[in-house]
Amino acid sequence: MRKIEKRAAVCLLLVLALLLGSGFFAFRFVAYGGKWVSFAANRHLYNSTGQLAVGRVLDRDGDVLSCVNADGQRLYYENPDVRRATLHAVGDPAGNIGTGALVAFADQLSGYNLLTGTYSPLGAGNDLYLTIDARLNYTAHRAMNGRKGTVAVYNYNTGEVLCMYSAPTFDPADPPGIQDGDERYDGVYVNRFLSALYPPGSVFKLVTLAAALENLPELESRTFTCTGATQVGGETITCTAPHGELNAESALACSCNGFFAQLASELGPDVLASYAKKAGLTSSYNVSGLSTARGSFDFTGATVGQVGWAGVGQYNDLVNPCAMLVYMGAIARGRDAAVPQLVLKTQSALDLPLSFYLKKKTGTLIRADTAKQVTAMMSNNVQATYGADRFPNMDVCAKSGTAEVGGGKAPNAWFAGFLRNASTPYAFVVLVENGGSGSDVAGSVAARVLNTLVNG
Ligand SMILES: [Zn+2]
Repeated sequence: MRKIEKRAAVCLLLVLALLLGSGFFAFRFVAYGGKWVSFAANRHLYNSTGQLAVGRVLDRDGDVLSCVNADGQRLYYENPDVRRATLHAVGDPAGNIGTGALVAFADQLSGYNLLTGTYSPLGAGNDLYLTIDARLNYTAHRAMNGRKGTVAVYNYNTGEVLCMYSAPTFDPADPPGIQDGDERYDGVYVNRFLSALYPPGSVFKLVTLAAALENLPELESRTFTCTGATQVGGETITCTAPHGELNAESALACSCNGFFAQLASELGPDVLASYAKKAGLTSSYNVSGLSTARGSFDFTGATVGQVGWAGVGQYNDLVNPCAMLVYMGAIARGRDAAVPQLVLKTQSALDLPLSFYLKKKTGTLIRADTAKQVTAMMSNNVQATYGADRFPNMDVCAKSGTAEVGGGKAPNAWFAGFLRNASTPYAFVVLVENGGSGSDVAGSVAARVLNTLVNG
């Protein structure tokens, strides 16, 4: 009798282990099945050269950016400049660009589902529509004219990314042999919009401004005289020229380092860091499953003068262009913004919709009353400094940045902002590495892309 009890107990344990194991497998199967199937060594999905042999990648209005021919070879758009312009959104044949659709969305392209796996009666995989418009990427590519950096535009209400360009780039239909240390292809596999970090330069003055509006009550009546060099905590904060008599609005319009470094030193490192965090600049966003790089603002052991420099976007400050874009959207909307997304929809070869994507919102990145004041000043920047006539039929609010990078190189040029028009709810960010002046260089790239978007 004892023996039987013992055996029954052992059987029960085995049954429990089986149930647990099956449950664990079922969970993993549901959660990761698509990833297992799209593993690069699966010869049912990848051809002999390792390219995904099923599925088409299209832009938002149906231009086929990549498809597969009858021999299972992957093809790209016919125009080589469009191929270069959409490289980081679509991906390269070798799969080196991990954030490209051919790698990142391989499970959705393969037509994988839980019931039939990747089997399809047509054997064609799925159509994956990206949110981007190839025409805007092409305009961005032409406007960047061989310079490195990134250009992005998105709808801050829906999250749809309309333009996402990263350079350097190459033709995926004719990939170059890239040697280590070749400057022309420095970081070419990195999608700079999603994965790079840069000193924000003067664009960060918007965060310092938001903190000052909420913490320094006399800010609106404050005046300041810029002589071109301002002492902050024993450090000389320089401007490109003496700006003369200023208030907060005119200081932002001429991007006076002295004025904003002074504000930063009064706010202190803790308040400044908390506003950078609140603005989402240290967050990582989930963009259709791709995680963006987290910015960092490390003020440990910083002197008063260094906090001053940090307040104008120098010192140790680093931001990700996508996080900056989302912050622009939040200022525009007056609190939060839609989280960017890159996949518009996926359809089977029978044109059956296979998925729909829920809009996601950020938390509160800026207080509504603060956003209103910042918006008014960003609008004044365009009227007073950048030139409203560069942006026809657009109510543009913007901030430029010219971020020093050291090493005797020209500064990085930034231009970020948004359109206030209800019918064109777009935020934008342009970063030109070693481009020089933010307003001139990055502003001109933004103007060309926005002009194509708004005026056709
Ligand atoms: Zn100044």
